[in-house]
Amino acid sequence: MQGLMMDYPLTTNVILRRAETMYPHREIITRRGDGRLDRSSYGEMARRAKQLALALAALGIGRGDRVATLSWNHAEHQEAYFGIPAAGAVLHTLNLRLPHEEIAYIADHADDRVLIVDECLLDIYDSIRTRVPFEHVVVVRESDAALPEGMIDYEELLAQYDAGDYVDPQLDEREAAAMCYTSGTTGRSKGVVYSHRSTVLHSLALTMADALGVCAADVIVPVVPMFHVNAWGIPYTAAMVGAVQVFPGPRPTPADILELMTSQRATLAAGVPTVWLGMLELLDQAPGKHDLSSVRAIAVGGAASPQRMVESYDRHGVRIVCAWGMTETSPIGTVSILPKELQDADPDVQMQQRLRQGFPVPLVELRARNENGLVPWDGQTMGELEICGPWVASQYYESSDPTAGMAFTDDGWFRTGDIVVIRPDGSMHLQDRAKDVIKSGGEWISSIALEGALMGHDRVAEAAVIAMPDERWGERPLAVVVPRGDTPPTSDELLAMLAEQFPKWWLPEQIVVRKEIPKTSAGKFLKSALREQYTARV
Ligand code: ADP
Repeated sequence: MQGLMMDYPLTTNVILRRAETMYPHREIITRRGDGRLDRSSYGEMARRAKQLALALAALGIGRGDRVATLSWNHAEHQEAYFGIPAAGAVLHTLNLRLPHEEIAYIADHADDRVLIVDECLLDIYDSIRTRVPFEHVVVVRESDAALPEGMIDYEELLAQYDAGDYVDPQLDEREAAAMCYTSGTTGRSKGVVYSHRSTVLHSLALTMADALGVCAADVIVPVVPMFHVNAWGIPYTAAMVGAVQVFPGPRPTPADILELMTSQRATLAAGVPTVWLGMLELLDQAPGKHDLSSVRAIAVGGAASPQRMVESYDRHGVRIVCAWGMTETSPIGTVSILPKELQDADPDVQMQQRLRQGFPVPLVELRARNENGLVPWDGQTMGELEICGPWVASQYYESSDPTAGMAFTDDGWFRTGDIVVIRPDGSMHLQDRAKDVIKSGGEWISSIALEGALMGHDRVAEAAVIAMPDERWGERPLAVVVPRGDTPPTSDELLAMLAEQFPKWWLPEQIVVRKEIPKTSAGKFLKSALREQYTARV
């Protein structure tokens, strides 16, 4: 017997209609390049998204065609998030921090037909234009300077169309809404294609209290770029529940973000740890000066949060919530909430749980595997994390990379490349990425655990631990440390501190002090560059 409920398509247009009818006056605020704040609304966003959909159709863009964006976080990018799928086309967010050659490869591989680009990023377009045959280039402008020949002014384009003429194309929920390429830290960039259905379900997931609990009372500052995994889905979720969004605009500094969060009375913000470490320095310099009392949480993911950072924010009255995800998982996979059993636990126990990656959100399933098969949920046995759920990729987009198929198991789960332990309560604790884990004498050493401990030292700002080839043990850890303040800690001091927490064979063979650690386009430690530098020296 079949169920007799409506086959209601889960498309981004459903979210758009809701935003338009329910929250026409709820604000979307953008910090422009000159620091000015522009105020728009969901009503205006919906009107302009429909104008964009009509304009794209007039440019010859149809069902499934890819439309790329090369943009910072701002109101026009939000319009593209809805307007491109509203045309039946596919939003393809290009990561502006990647090497230009990689951007060209990605745009070409995805067959992007139109590019919507910020005026301040036209130099990137210039350096890729001969390699990518965009049919149209639409420029979101901030200045009155003349546009280069052949380019279309975004505002002039929209002005030609009347939102009232827009007709919903009645999309199938399994059609593609958006795509994003992995940032290539683990090989050639691969395309992930989100469906309308996965996008809507992922948006719902973010509203759950045990996820980020995004709600109508929120004022959100999405620091995570809209060119990186859909700004963790926030633009869709915020529109769905009518949360105010405050976009940081081009090249935001920690000071810009702090200013926006205090002046706009933000309740929620999201970004990678490096951003929040930067803001922490400002808070520490002037305790009590910045009023963050409106903030109920800062969601931090993309890399492990150092304990010192979480504790320092606690002291400033701001709660950090750690979450784990990947481009391939839309991205929300797990969130580190405190379950009922730990509500009254010792603060140290609570802190350890908060620092882990946490519990899979409903509809997401986890398991981990090592060479002996699926690992027990004992909180000790390490294995590679496998994941399935309605917003997890089932394959990559036309990848010629021979390893792409290996990312999926025979029964269709996605192999994450993350080495984890799963605890008896079902929560996940990430130990390392498969390519970063250090294999010493046949045993695994977690580089993340060592980094976390090193960054717990008062005079250490950043620490990355990499594997060095070793004749006797296969690999041994080498720690690279960026000091905080004027007196760098000595190796002996750091080793003595580590010796209190880890077995002797985990201790780094060598500790190197340097001014900075190279970062990826998403602000994570670029360990491949460190490995190249230090292994070349031996
Ligand atoms: P890239 O693979 O290029 O870094 P992603 O943004 O997809 O791009 O990164 C996903 C990876 O980031 C995960 O596989 C994991 O290794 C790491 N990661 C994400 N969230 C966390 C977290 N909370 N703690 C530790 N690592 C994380």
